[in-house]
Formats: sequence, C-alpha cells, structure tokens
Amino acid sequence: MIYLDNSATTKQYHEVTELMVRYMEEDFGNPSALYQPGVDAEKAIKNARRQLKDALGLGEGDVYFTSCGTEADNLAIFGAVRSLRRLGNRIVTSAVEHPAVLECCKRLEQDGFEVIYVDVDSRCRLDEHHLAGAINDKTILVSLMHVNNETGTVMPVDKARALMNEKKAPGLFHTDCVQSFGKISLPKGADLVTVSGHKIHGPKGTGALWVKKGINLQPYLLGGGQESGMRSGTQNVSGIAGFGLAAEMSVSSMDVDAEKMKEIRQRLIEGFTSLGDVVINSPEIVGDQTGNCCPSVLNVTFRKTRGEVLLHTLEQDGIYVSTGSACSSNKKGQSHVLKAMGLSPKDIEGTLRFSFGRFNTLEETDEVIEKVAAAVNRFRKLGSFR
Ligand code: PLP
Repeated sequence: MIYLDNSATTKQYHEVTELMVRYMEEDFGNPSALYQPGVDAEKAIKNARRQLKDALGLGEGDVYFTSCGTEADNLAIFGAVRSLRRLGNRIVTSAVEHPAVLECCKRLEQDGFEVIYVDVDSRCRLDEHHLAGAINDKTILVSLMHVNNETGTVMPVDKARALMNEKKAPGLFHTDCVQSFGKISLPKGADLVTVSGHKIHGPKGTGALWVKKGINLQPYLLGGGQESGMRSGTQNVSGIAGFGLAAEMSVSSMDVDAEKMKEIRQRLIEGFTSLGDVVINSPEIVGDQTGNCCPSVLNVTFRKTRGEVLLHTLEQDGIYVSTGSACSSNKKGQSHVLKAMGLSPKDIEGTLRFSFGRFNTLEETDEVIEKVAAAVNRFRKLGSFR
C-alpha cells in the first residue's frame, strides 16, 4: 500500500497505540475520580497537556482537549463570539476555510452577524488587500487557517494579526493549524489555535484548542466542568495520552520529515508535468512563509481526465490519493476551495490531492508516477468513461 492521503488522516505511531492500550485496559479510571486509578488517569492527561503545550511552543496559554479539530474550531468561534458580541458585529474569515470553520460562520450569519469571506488567487494565496479592507474596529473575530488542507498554501496569519492591531479590531484571532502542526513552525501571534490528533499520527477523535493566557472564552459544552470548565464531558484518556505522545514525536522529527516530503513532492511534480496538460495548483515554493506551500501537500489537475476515475484506478494498484478534502467528500458538489481559486468545473473534475506523511518514502515515488501516468494516458486515450 502506498498511502498518499495524509491530509485526510495518518497512520498512527505504533508507540501511540501501545500507550493507548495501557489506558484502555489497565489504567482506565475516570480522571475525575478521587481514588488511585482516577489519579493515574488524571496524571496521564496532565502529562499529555504538557507534551502538547511544549510541542506547540506558543508561549503562555492553556491547552483544552476536545473530541476533534472540528470541535476545537467550534469552541473557538462560538466561544469568542459569545464573549465579545457587545464589541461589534463583524467576523472575518477566508473563502477557503475547512467546513469546521465555514459552517460555524454561516450559522453566525443566520444569527445576524456580518461575515466577510476573503478571496484567494489561483494558487489559494489570500488576497491581502481584501483582508485589509475587511478588518475594522467592529471586528470581533478573525479566523484564518494557517495551511489550506486542499492545496497546502500557507496563509498570511501574522499579517492578519498585525492588521487587527492596526485597525483597532477589538476581537480575537483564531487560526486553524490542523494541517500545519507537526509539518512547519506555527505562527506565534494568535489568541486561539486549533490542532487535531489524527493528522499527526495520533488517534482519531482527539483535538485541542490552545488559548492564550488572559483570553476569556465562553464554553459551549456545559456539564461536569472538566477541562477547567472549558469543555465538559469525561475526557478520552487513552486518546489524549496518545495525542500528547504523537505531538511530541511529530514535532521532534519535523525538520527531517519535512525535507523528505519536499523531495517526494518535487519528484512527483517533475514526473506529473512531463505528462503534459497538467496544472500544479499548489504554490511551487515549499516553506513556511506566506504564499509558500507546506511540504505535505500537492494539488494537481490532470486535464481531460476525471479525478474520481483516476483515484479508483490507482486504488487497484494499492495507491491511495484524494480528489479533494476527505472531510467534504461526503457532500454533494465540487470543492469550494478549487472554486474559490477560479478553476473551471472541468479542471476541478480532473484534480487530485497527494498528501504526504512521515511514513512515505522516496522509493515509492517512481511507482506512483508510473501508475498515475498509465491511468492518465489510458483515460485520455479512451475518452470519458461516462
Ligand atoms: N481543519 C482543517 C484544516 C482540516 O483539514 C480538518 C480535517 O481535515 C479539520 C479542521 C477537522 O479536524 P477533525 O477531523 O479532527 O475534526
């Protein structure tokens, strides 16, 4: 199996699985219980919180564990708006956020808030003029992802923060770092940062929101007061312990992994472009600066093909890729990201996303190029399969 859909999810580290089994079968106490097994479970959470805080490296703040990245985004957005609604009515985000952010914004629009969706260009780079015009002194929240999940484009997160200061926006700044955490260094100026466990070789169903010290956020999941009242509900101890370890392991090998992914990505670009009628939709330069591409993603249009057919042809060869983001693949219609980038419906149809992780090897690359070339040529020769 050659797994090239690491932006959708990743293979879990073996060490993480082993640790999780311990907290499922042996130290399975409720972390709120007063007796020893409860205290042991609580210790595991405390340790994971420290591991995640260190791995994030964002300075003074708290980590609150959630059930996924989506929940952390919801907590950040609804929590911020609930706290700050007296100060204004405007929310600024981008047109290419993950649905975990966009759907919250749509709900807030229905509730009467004004939401500005900032545009992007053909490589998913944010229109900074539009951003500057969108932020004003009534802006109570700016939510801008660090790295786009479909193209890998690095967004101008530092610039957005600076604009909030410049325009005297009274709001909070949230950034969804689900795709950048463990891949490139994180931006330092945010108030709220979302991360997710299963994108960094940790368990599915784990996420976290980092909240800068001194920020007042209103919880929306109420109950027993776990996570210092920010997120009630008995914690997923084994998942949290696994997430903490995965964060530590991913960040410790981040630079080496990024170098390898960069080489894989470059080799694929060269192999794919030699096929002709191919458009690379991700930014070409890899790096952590605004407008660059995170090394983990490569988005490509193979013109005069259908991505879905290519995907299933490759699947028969044991190669797994995606036609867009897995999180939106169960929704009808074409990718909102590729649409916002101005791709034609036909080009969107012929688009695949390749996304890399630490278990990919350079040796796999030649086989991928060969099989993709065969699938593309076959499709082009035989014409539409419809
Ligand atoms: N944000 C981004 C940018 C993502 O790519 C994803 C998942 O693909 C999420 C949020 C949601 O994370 P989770 O799957 O943990 O809910």
